[in-house]
Amino acid sequence: MQFKAPKGTTDILPDVARRWQYLEHKAIELFSIYGYEPIVTPMFEHTEVFLRSIGISTDIVQKEMYTFADKGGRSLTLRPEGTAPVIRAYVDHNMNQLPQPVKLYYTGPMFRYERPQAGRYRQFWQMGIEAIGSDDPAIDAEAILLMINYFKSVGLKELTLYINSMGCDEDRPVYIRLLKDYAEENREKLCRDCQKRIDLNPLRLFDCKEESCQLVMKDAPKIIDYLDKECKAHFNKVRQYLDTQGIAYIIKPELVRGLDYYTKTTFEVVSPFLGAQNAIGGGGRYNKLVEEFGGPPTPGIGFAIGTERLSIAVEREGAFLSIDNKMDVFVAVPDEAARSTAINLLSALREAGISSDLDYMGRSLKGQLKYADKRGFKYTVFLGSRELESGEVVVKNMETSEQLEVPLKELVDKLSEILGRPGAVARVKGPGTGVQG
Ligand code: AMP
Repeated sequence: MQFKAPKGTTDILPDVARRWQYLEHKAIELFSIYGYEPIVTPMFEHTEVFLRSIGISTDIVQKEMYTFADKGGRSLTLRPEGTAPVIRAYVDHNMNQLPQPVKLYYTGPMFRYERPQAGRYRQFWQMGIEAIGSDDPAIDAEAILLMINYFKSVGLKELTLYINSMGCDEDRPVYIRLLKDYAEENREKLCRDCQKRIDLNPLRLFDCKEESCQLVMKDAPKIIDYLDKECKAHFNKVRQYLDTQGIAYIIKPELVRGLDYYTKTTFEVVSPFLGAQNAIGGGGRYNKLVEEFGGPPTPGIGFAIGTERLSIAVEREGAFLSIDNKMDVFVAVPDEAARSTAINLLSALREAGISSDLDYMGRSLKGQLKYADKRGFKYTVFLGSRELESGEVVVKNMETSEQLEVPLKELVDKLSEILGRPGAVARVKGPGTGVQG
């Protein structure tokens, strides 16, 4: 019986996994430069964590959560996103006592029961940051700048940044009333889900994927036109900071981003190299979320980048640097007599930081070389009884086929030198290794 990975999930095989590691490494490097520290939260939470934060009437909560009862009868949910767990942890660990803002980053898989398609999966990876404790518009601009700079650092050039402001408690009620009236007037043109949204949570009307609903919502009143004085000033400041840093953006008044917790700034970056699922990252401010989890009033802002979509965009833009995935040295062992020495040599090479391997399948010398060729090694070293006797081994450059003879006891140093690994001084001590220093 053979099994496939569950629908909406994929196995990330070495070639792609290596690219992801590179993308993650670059992200961590840059997040750290901007003052963010790592946090790791559980992959599942009490279901209530997401109900409270993402919102009962959102698509995520209504349709997409992997919720289950554990053997203790608790309702748990595989995290559909990273912000709510981080804020839950912030409150749980009294991080409001720490110097503010608390700046955290995370990477890891998220789970949403969505209809799978290119760029949309049921398990997908995100890399995200949260800056908790400050309402300063400079930190909104910083988060946006960080995301853009990260994308640039991995070679993306063609990006579009959308921004919006979702207002706050002061300006929402007036706006929501207007939005409701508008939706009510257009009720028959909306899908059944949207008709329910009119009463439940009219802001969610903007999330609908139905074309007919999107057409109606195009002409709906937009919150950005109803911001109160404070929210307007905040948004203008964010724009000003972006302008002075030379960051181009488009204001997109319908950008409400599918989650209830957003206040003030929201933003999203799309790539022209992706199809319908073209958002590679997005985020926003959530000034009520800490309170939702029982903490003191504390503003916050964050974003998340989708690793799959990012990886596809970087690939399509031709921006992946050629990642050197060749092993350094293959130790070919023509006859059994030299195997034990070869195994010791392998250890010495590895201790010196030289990636190396030998045959474990009982192949003939010809078979070993074929394998080495397929797998991709920079050098092959031949170590048989003849070499043991003479104390000289042949090192072959697999690219140029050039060969050179090296005394066995100098081999590790010589290879370190050729491969540019200075400081490699590891030695294998013991009888018969021939590689003592
Ligand atoms: P969100 O948490 O919805 O704000 O999403 C942030 C980013 O995660 C998006 O811009 C996407 O790049 C990525 N993303 C969200 N949902 C999925 C999904 N189902 N499959 C793949 N990537 C996703």
